[in-house]
Amino acid sequence: MGSLWNVSAESLVSWVGVSDDGNRDLPETSRAFNLKSQLGIVQSKPLPAQMKIYSEVAAKYLPALMDLFRQTPEVISLVSTLVNVISTTPYFIRFLRSPAGEGIAALQAHRVANAVTEIPSMSVDDVGEIGQFLSSLLILQGIQDVSAEDKAILLQHLPSWERQFRGRLASETAGRCIALFTDDPGMRPMMDAVRNMLEGKLDKCGGPGCVRRVQRDGSVLSQCGRCKSAVYCGVAHQKAAWATHKATCFPAVF
Ligand SMILES: [Zn+2]
Ligand SMILES: [Zn+2]
Repeated sequence: MGSLWNVSAESLVSWVGVSDDGNRDLPETSRAFNLKSQLGIVQSKPLPAQMKIYSEVAAKYLPALMDLFRQTPEVISLVSTLVNVISTTPYFIRFLRSPAGEGIAALQAHRVANAVTEIPSMSVDDVGEIGQFLSSLLILQGIQDVSAEDKAILLQHLPSWERQFRGRLASETAGRCIALFTDDPGMRPMMDAVRNMLEGKLDKCGGPGCVRRVQRDGSVLSQCGRCKSAVYCGVAHQKAAWATHKATCFPAVF
């Protein structure tokens, strides 16, 4: 086992228990400490460096991480923490649209609904993370698969988290979830803007300043063959984007 300072895609997933490399047998508290320490190191880096490592984790391990996520019933876990940090990558957005990603938002909404009695006594950071992850999933996948029962439970409890954690991410993200569930017209432009920004990473030409989502003739943009998570309106823009794209372009296993 290397030093905690040596953060890599492999080390991050090893604390979560995806790979059978011995770290999976460490006590959960040590793995949690190691994962959080390493994520703290990543989050202290400039954003491009963060996106590089998150992209590598996503490209190489998303299917395995999401299998583990589906098997882990807790509303917050090491695997959900790691999935949450990579949820803004185009890889994750593409995964959510694939058959393997079906129903993830509804699954997580169900877990949050089941945990409503525990959540008020959790740390504000954990509640913030739970809210952030759920709101991102709902923005990307919509609320249509969430059961009426879960939706009713959540709408009953989210306003009290919004009040209890006022001024913190936990409150803001609870508010975002309420806005999504109620399709609040006042919040709709902001939610649409967030969705557009996230989906634009996958659907918009990656050429500098280019905003095309289709070719001039209306056909689909061509995909980067390596990561499958960037598209271009032509070879010129693919070449122009490479200097920056190469940092987050990893051969995707899905
Ligand atoms: Zn373009
Ligand atoms: Zn690529």
